[in-house]
Amino acid sequence: MRIIGVTGGIGSGKSTVSRILEDLGAVVIDADKISREVTSPGEQAFNEIVNCFGEEYIGQNGQLDRKKLAALVFSHPDKLKLLNSITHKHIIDRILKMIDAKAKEGYNGVIAIDAPIPVEHGFLDTVDEVWVVDAERDVRIKRIMERSNMSYEEAVSRINSQIAQSDYLAVANEVIENNGSVEELEQKVVKLYFSKSENRK
Ligand code: ADP
Repeated sequence: MRIIGVTGGIGSGKSTVSRILEDLGAVVIDADKISREVTSPGEQAFNEIVNCFGEEYIGQNGQLDRKKLAALVFSHPDKLKLLNSITHKHIIDRILKMIDAKAKEGYNGVIAIDAPIPVEHGFLDTVDEVWVVDAERDVRIKRIMERSNMSYEEAVSRINSQIAQSDYLAVANEVIENNGSVEELEQKVVKLYFSKSENRK
């Protein structure tokens, strides 16, 4: 089994790289998707978040009001830290269980973990290689605004609330520069997928 960790700042193109990897046959584990799963009503992390942030963060439908929570944490770094300290352990737990289940069923292909934060436990200590998707700040802002219908200020605030680009590059075995077209990105991903990386752990 080969485990690739795909990471990078918001709007760099992680999800697009993961989609390409999926098309190539990899099993993709999406940390953002798992984050939504572990924070749905009835889950432990949901209760912990409500206890910590208050019932006003439960929306009309009984789900977390993610928009309201995002507005809070992306303008208060200490609150973002607190939220992450609740969710990360549950996300990591689930990721490790998914990998374990794949190993037990004898899966011998590629697994890609798509995660916005390259945490030590459950990501860096789990993957065989780290691919960092990198794009220029202005390109990322434009993509975030278009994808998520955000204002310029909101997109900038999302970027600023994340770890620095240099911190991503510091853990990279491969850097995938994504300032060009999706076709160029596809070519780069296909090449890496079929290469035996020199940098692999
Ligand atoms: P991330 O997961 O890192 O936040 P995404 O993969 O969702 O980033 O990409 C952000 C947005 O930019 C998406 O709407 C995606 O379709 C688009 N995108 C990604 N790469 C390119 C590219 N090379 N050219 C044009 N649009 C792109």
